[in-house]
Amino acid sequence: MDREITDKVCRAVVDAGLSLANSSMTVGTYGNISCRVDENTIAITPSGRDYEQLTPSDIVIVNMEGAVLEMGDPNERKTVDTGADAKGSAVPLRPSSELSLHLAIYRHFPEARAIVHTHSIYASALAAAHKDLPAIVEDLTQIVGGGVRCTEYTLAGTEELGRRAVEAMEGGRSAALLANHGAVCWGRNMKEALTTAEILEKGAQIYCIAHSFGTPFPLNDKIARTLHEFYLKHYSKRQRGEE
Ligand code: 13P
Ligand code: ZN
Repeated sequence: MDREITDKVCRAVVDAGLSLANSSMTVGTYGNISCRVDENTIAITPSGRDYEQLTPSDIVIVNMEGAVLEMGDPNERKTVDTGADAKGSAVPLRPSSELSLHLAIYRHFPEARAIVHTHSIYASALAAAHKDLPAIVEDLTQIVGGGVRCTEYTLAGTEELGRRAVEAMEGGRSAALLANHGAVCWGRNMKEALTTAEILEKGAQIYCIAHSFGTPFPLNDKIARTLHEFYLKHYSKRQRGEE
């Protein structure tokens, strides 16, 4: 594990948390964020902590089996079996309670490098009604690869939630609605995971509005594939200034 890369990833997780909190995608300490450090390691937000208060040293480093490798101040970081607690905090940090959800997605989708779990309003409204979000807008279809399916109800923080989310993402979709809970999105980098969460929320809002005066018209599978391919092969490269 490279120290410089780890620190950079922890900073990216903190910044993503701030952006989530500032865009009303979640309230208080709810939701969580993670990013891959390398093939065997991820950095994840600690459980039950305010995004505004997080510093890179609060981000918890775990391996792909879910074992905590590091947490606490980077200058005093020690492996957990030394018993070190987070500096300046009376309560030790612990990884997000949705660690198993994040790990299930990383294990199943090797392209996933970052994950954002939100409790955003419109996505949660669809999830509360156990409704899928069809592919009704192009940006959503481009980035997710089609409509966004909703899981069956599964208790938060369980391994079962991870299995259900992966099931709902079948076919390479990069987002799922979690029944009576919220949404989870992955991206090939942190920016893409965050953008996916925002576009999902916007799509869910558009779906609700369109329903108020008509019947939203879903794009067919062939168009959805074309849009997603265009995004992967061209548009996302343009966004990174590579095309
Ligand atoms: P954590 O604070 O443990 O990440 O949990 C928040 C949440 O959204 C649970 O689903
Ligand atoms: Zn949640």
